[in-house]
Amino acid sequence: MAGSVKGYIGKQLRVDLTNRKFTVDQVDPKFLRKFIGGSGYGAKLLYDEVHAGVDPLGPQNKLVFSTSPLSLNRVPGGGSVIICFKSPATGGWGESRCGGDFGPDLKRSGFDFLVIEGRSHEPLYLAIDDGKPELRAAQHLVAKSVSEKSALMRRAFAHPKTSIATIGVGGENLVKFASVMVGHRAAGRGGAGAVMGSKNLLGIAVSGSQEVTVDDPDKLTSAISAALTVLKANGSTSSFRDFGTMGDMAGNDKSGDWPSKNWRSNSWGKGEELFEHFHGKNLVRNHGCYRGCPVACGRIVEVKSGIFKTPIHEGGEYETISAFTAFVMNDDVDVAVHCDYLCNEYGIDTISCGAMIAFAMECYENGVIDKIDTDGIELEWGNSEVLPEMVQLIAERKGIGDILADGVKLSSERLGGSSHEYAIQIKGLEGPAHDPRSGKALAVTYCTANRGMCHIHPVEGMAWDSGKIDWGMQEFGIPDPQKIDRWAEKGKGRVIKILQDGLAIPDVLSTCKFMMYCGLTLSHWAEILSALTGWDIDGAELLRIGERVNNLQRMINVREGFSRKDDRLPTRILQLPEFGKYKDEARCVINDIDGLLDEYYEARGWHRETGAPLEAKLKELELV
Ligand code: SF4
Repeated sequence: MAGSVKGYIGKQLRVDLTNRKFTVDQVDPKFLRKFIGGSGYGAKLLYDEVHAGVDPLGPQNKLVFSTSPLSLNRVPGGGSVIICFKSPATGGWGESRCGGDFGPDLKRSGFDFLVIEGRSHEPLYLAIDDGKPELRAAQHLVAKSVSEKSALMRRAFAHPKTSIATIGVGGENLVKFASVMVGHRAAGRGGAGAVMGSKNLLGIAVSGSQEVTVDDPDKLTSAISAALTVLKANGSTSSFRDFGTMGDMAGNDKSGDWPSKNWRSNSWGKGEELFEHFHGKNLVRNHGCYRGCPVACGRIVEVKSGIFKTPIHEGGEYETISAFTAFVMNDDVDVAVHCDYLCNEYGIDTISCGAMIAFAMECYENGVIDKIDTDGIELEWGNSEVLPEMVQLIAERKGIGDILADGVKLSSERLGGSSHEYAIQIKGLEGPAHDPRSGKALAVTYCTANRGMCHIHPVEGMAWDSGKIDWGMQEFGIPDPQKIDRWAEKGKGRVIKILQDGLAIPDVLSTCKFMMYCGLTLSHWAEILSALTGWDIDGAELLRIGERVNNLQRMINVREGFSRKDDRLPTRILQLPEFGKYKDEARCVINDIDGLLDEYYEARGWHRETGAPLEAKLKELELV
């Protein structure tokens, strides 16, 4: 029976914005054991319901807000929600995780899954309170910042545990890398905010007091307690708490894992200095992004004075600060913190935004665009003063910002000339702040990640071969990273297949992946999931689910026309860096990307030439 799986509410809400109609579906338990929730459930729903060729910004695209049984505040990492959609940035599979409490609060409102369909003719927001959904007029929210929208919506709710997700001006303007924001936490990559904007849905508020039934409460308490003990004892937990993700900046610069000047180098030499400024001058305190996080890696930051004075807010992630420093050769961290704040208020992805400005700077340097195109803005490397203005132009789609708002692939097609050489992307998604010239496993990750040039969904390859993290995956056949040469290539295609399947699991469970960096393993997740649902599930079964989900997402991409030809690293990244510590280090060069991909496809059971999953593999995974 539909609602019979414990740990789930058992219900999915569909919101048809075109007809202003709500449908409550019971969720099929067979479906749940195979795909669980998060990015797994979202992939199954989109595979079945959003057909090939659908316009990502048209009414037929769907936006799935997806939780799992682990979406509870007391589960480590349980505050997140995963949003799944066809990506306007890539035209393929889109998923994005957002921290905060939206996941558990969606469940409290009475639903495990929320599916947004159609398109409204006028701006609306959705309110769900204790199982009762309502669409409300949102004209008063138009053109407001993320904070203003959230505050205006919050006034209409008495419940103290109301979570609010909104888009910003970027989403309203269909910037292809617009975010969905929960406060200053972002579902940033891939353009979920543009999809929500295309539907004329400006916000979603969820609240309620509904509880799931737990199969074995004592077992759950002891599984959570065991997980918390592991987290407490792990050295990475205190590092994350004390230094946040910014704690990686100096080390990444030193190890050649810091893309600089639009990927012309993998190091800059200023990582330590920039981190010291951030930690000493911008950091106010650490912060847990959801109620109860045992790691609390989030940062509360500010710029105290000067022309880029910025109020106290949540931000200052490594990726963001890198995008507004090393990507564009800006050494003024205050400006980077300010740009982070602006991106969050406009609701646009910080990584893609910084990457677009770096791309524009290289176009400017090489005469593809000039001062007339930029309306007088001097887009020179390191010109920090222009960065906030560029963020604004992109979010508001004004001037040169209107071209850049379409992402680097489309922008370079429109600008022509030599700009394609500077368009660093895979499948249309701009690259983040990790460089495979520091550890070759990341080359495979980048080529084959279903959402495009992404380091973290599903796995950071270089964290294994260069960073020496194994996430407890040696029992599933990955070699001890301590014994691995970070620059070696052979064998890493096979390892990445296993790591992708394992590290997809936090996304499938809608939990925070950092818990695995701090010691949790597939077995810990399996124990918690079994206690909640009554399933007798173990780490090996989770690994299998991760494999199924990765294949299903690949099938979504394959039917949209993606193949091996799209699993390519930009040429620049295969070569020696142009400057910096590694400019003469021949081991940085990626010599045999084709060999790595051959290994990967073979391990996956995919066609060696097309990169499509073979029939036998799909049967084995019960996908056909
Ligand atoms: S570890 Fe950091 S990102 Fe993860 S849930 Fe906690 S505060 Fe949020």
